[in-house]
Amino acid sequence: RQAIVAIDGPAGAGKSTVARLVARELGLMYLDTGAMYRAVTWLLRDRDIPLDDEAAVAEVVAEAEIRLQVPDDDPQAPCPVWINDRDVTEAIRSLDVTAHVSAVAALGCVRRYLLKQQQRYGRQGGVVAEGRDIGTHVFPDAELKIFLTASVEERARRRHQDLADRGEGQIGLERLARDLQERDRKDSTREIAPLTKAPDAIEIETDGLSIEQVVRAIVDRYRD
Ligand code: C5P
Repeated sequence: RQAIVAIDGPAGAGKSTVARLVARELGLMYLDTGAMYRAVTWLLRDRDIPLDDEAAVAEVVAEAEIRLQVPDDDPQAPCPVWINDRDVTEAIRSLDVTAHVSAVAALGCVRRYLLKQQQRYGRQGGVVAEGRDIGTHVFPDAELKIFLTASVEERARRRHQDLADRGEGQIGLERLARDLQERDRKDSTREIAPLTKAPDAIEIETDGLSIEQVVRAIVDRYRD
């Protein structure tokens, strides 16, 4: 088994925060695969590529070079992301990218390309990777697989708080809940590598748990 922790789950379950802290605690690299799908989505939207034109998408994707960085000082600081040397750290969190990313992530040419890049990361050393298909497709031999969930109300509340922290708190809880559910529906019903719990993943339902408690539970499991 590889020194890999796979963290999957629906949108807004807290995967990024938890995965980053677990990586830090275990001295492993952190890999945000959602940021890669978001970066590709940003590029396609920036170039006005119709997302249903798979040949045009494939052409853009073939020359996309994504770079991810993890600042090691402040675990709250956003992780810088570049695509083709353009800093898209902020841009990939926009409403437009969030609304279109599931359609892009359903395309075979995009998934095949990113899968290879993600597996390359894993070969460089130990990694905590988070996404939707890490335990099922990217790293099926991961040492530890976690499926992180929370009620939709809780996930919408956390998303609302995140947005407020970034000065974008004007979207209501109901709309956020609807958007999260719509994205989960698309992610779990697509044909290729849909969002699903790996049979050997441990499910952690995080309603009522603090971030520290969730991180501790995962770190303890890994060390066992
Ligand atoms: O995790 P995040 O919300 O940033 O992911 C954005 C989107 O990227 C997801 O809604 C999903 O469509 C796609 N994704 C995926 N497979 C992954 C990670 C993300 O399809 N491993």
